[in-house]
Amino acid sequence: MKKEMKKCARCEETKAIAEFNRDSKARDGRQTYCRTCKDELRKASYGTFERKCTKAKDRANQKAKRYGAESTLTLQEVKEVLGGTHCNYCNKPLEQSEKTLEHVLPFECGGANTFGNVTLACTACNSRKHVLPAFEFILLNGDAEAARRLLETLAERNGVTPTEYLYTLARAGIAYRTARLRRIVGVEAQ
Ligand SMILES: [Zn+2]
Ligand SMILES: [Zn+2]
Repeated sequence: MKKEMKKCARCEETKAIAEFNRDSKARDGRQTYCRTCKDELRKASYGTFERKCTKAKDRANQKAKRYGAESTLTLQEVKEVLGGTHCNYCNKPLEQSEKTLEHVLPFECGGANTFGNVTLACTACNSRKHVLPAFEFILLNGDAEAARRLLETLAERNGVTPTEYLYTLARAGIAYRTARLRRIVGVEAQ
């Protein structure tokens, strides 16, 4: 009888063993938290994710507005991007807190706030990249496989071939370098 009951380490209620999910690594073969507690924790962490996505979307919308950029990114799309598991630049597996919504072609280079121009990046890659277009950044950091995957994903979202997409980025990259040069030497665009 005693073996059929177990105390939950979270709510401290003693419940039937069937109220605990199986865990092959545990000594008694069951998890330490009961199912009710597990459900509560899952809902709480989803709430955090929802808030994180909403905040990321709001921040991106505000920035897009400042730059007068096209802006169609939806909350659902932000969730899809931030729901990813690895940084698309360095391929590191990410904790929720390290995930950032990254605009591949920066607003500074004429990039838009659209599903076709966003990806998942870690905070380290995001801050290292600053306003460098993503593919210049990847090439500098040397992960060709990450570059190929990101290129294919974004080309598909934009309905173009990877080669066409790369040309768009290359053109914008040139425009960006020109704009940066103008800023450095202090002349206005024509
Ligand atoms: Zn419990
Ligand atoms: Zn990274």
